[in-house]
Amino acid sequence: MSIVFVISAPSGAGKSTLVNAVLASEERIEFATSVTTRRPRAREIDGQEYSFVSRDRFLEMRDNGEFLEWAEVFGHLYGTPASAVGQARARGNDLILDIDVQGASSLIEELPNAVKIFILPPSTAKLEKRLTKRSSDEDAVIERRLREASREVREYKSYDYVVINNEVEESVARLRAILLAERSKREQMERAIGPILNDFGIHRDAAAEASE
Ligand code: 5GP
Repeated sequence: MSIVFVISAPSGAGKSTLVNAVLASEERIEFATSVTTRRPRAREIDGQEYSFVSRDRFLEMRDNGEFLEWAEVFGHLYGTPASAVGQARARGNDLILDIDVQGASSLIEELPNAVKIFILPPSTAKLEKRLTKRSSDEDAVIERRLREASREVREYKSYDYVVINNEVEESVARLRAILLAERSKREQMERAIGPILNDFGIHRDAAAEASE
């Protein structure tokens, strides 16, 4: 059973760095590439960070029901392709969805078992510093993102886990620990448990009955 991890954070909290580090160090997990109408930043590659499309194309995809969820963030449209979950499942992989707080709350109905992780910047000063360092956005955009951050931070309460991104290495370790804990849950372990039960001469149904 694939686990879907929904990761949200205010813009500039360092989420992409953390997600990329987890993807690079863990097996059997993939990233759902969202579709957006925002223009690519320097070094962003179409089809990698995002699929970049025109507003008309996005609306066409939305009307065709191609999105699991979609939202308007900072005047641009962002959507998660509905095919991402099925594809990850077919490959036997877990999936990371990087979506904003609105998108995360609208996903609860579609994916009630998704594990929700909130990345919290340690302070407004650090957030501003990161946004300025990224410098691909204009001052007005940075200001807007900072204002929006205080609205988004309030939403941490609807998440299962919170990672305060003070230090990248520690945050990556925490994310990997969350992954490991979720993967160690009994229902995730059933496939691996089967042969061990057989080895003990226990029929799976008998074991289930005994535990009731
Ligand atoms: P950025 O433009 O900085 O890459 O992302 C801006 C915001 O859009 C972030 O909060 C990010 O999580 C969110 N976002 C990215 N992809 C999606 C998506 O597919 N759906 C939703 N709802 N938000 C997304």
